[in-house]
Amino acid sequence: MGWTLMIHGGAGRIERGRTSAEAEAGTRAGLAAALDAGAAVLAAGGAALDAVEAAVRVLEDDPHFNAGRGAALTRDGTAELDAAIMDGCTRAVGAVARVSCTRHPVALARAVMERSPHVFLAGIGADAFSRAIGMAQVENGWFVTDARRANLAELLADGDGYDVDMKYGTVGAVARDAAGHLAAATSTGGVTGKRWGRIGDSPVPGAGTWADDRGGAVSCTGAGETFLRVGVAQAIEARLRLLGETVAAAADVVLAEVTALGGTGGVIVAGREGDAAWRFSTPGMNRAVATAAGERRIALYGDE
Ligand code: ASP
Repeated sequence: MGWTLMIHGGAGRIERGRTSAEAEAGTRAGLAAALDAGAAVLAAGGAALDAVEAAVRVLEDDPHFNAGRGAALTRDGTAELDAAIMDGCTRAVGAVARVSCTRHPVALARAVMERSPHVFLAGIGADAFSRAIGMAQVENGWFVTDARRANLAELLADGDGYDVDMKYGTVGAVARDAAGHLAAATSTGGVTGKRWGRIGDSPVPGAGTWADDRGGAVSCTGAGETFLRVGVAQAIEARLRLLGETVAAAADVVLAEVTALGGTGGVIVAGREGDAAWRFSTPGMNRAVATAAGERRIALYGDE
């Protein structure tokens, strides 16, 4: 059995004609670069954990996505970054929330997993840990792009609340390596206009990110408040492990629960046998897949 890598770059109102040709090309190129980075690890016999981190790091540096540089902004115009990574082999998991100066939040999440006795660090403590272990730091302004400033200005002009138009772009990856191990990672700036230290589903193990070799690996994107209430990632994995459903069937059942609670979004799922599926309830989801068998596909819109 070979390896499989699936990535996403956010779900939402991703429809033909809504984005500029330039932005669309940039998004496709970013997904291709991330796919290449992760696939190179897997093709060389590397670990699923290394592959998902490699893919997500590329997307964190790419301003077309809502993670790292290009993150959605808080109501104050700052970036507060959330990320998680999980190893399905050991069920070790690391997560960070409200990180402000670490260039690669997914790498910091992995450091929490591997170099601290904890699972989840947030805010100033996460930043302090990051500095203490010598991770690459940047000014908060490095994450802030003109496009995200414009998103925020548009939202504030409309009044109260946070982004209901789903200008998302959260990123994630799931992989199964040649040895049969699974991993998942997710990274995000959250939602435009967030405040009060809001944290969504993305960094929360079981909600936005989950991997267990006995079932599957899942990374989510969408309405974080609803994904938290459903525990989407672990719910999908549990169905695979306990009910033996297909990856697509398990994702459909759980996304239907999200829909029933009024949320929308998407998931990518990798199963034990190298099977993988994406599912979304939004008009589109930035997504891509590569396998050892030579499959390679990049898609944005629902009809692709
Ligand atoms: N789920 C993310 C959050 O709520 C947003 C997204 O996926 O775009 O923070």
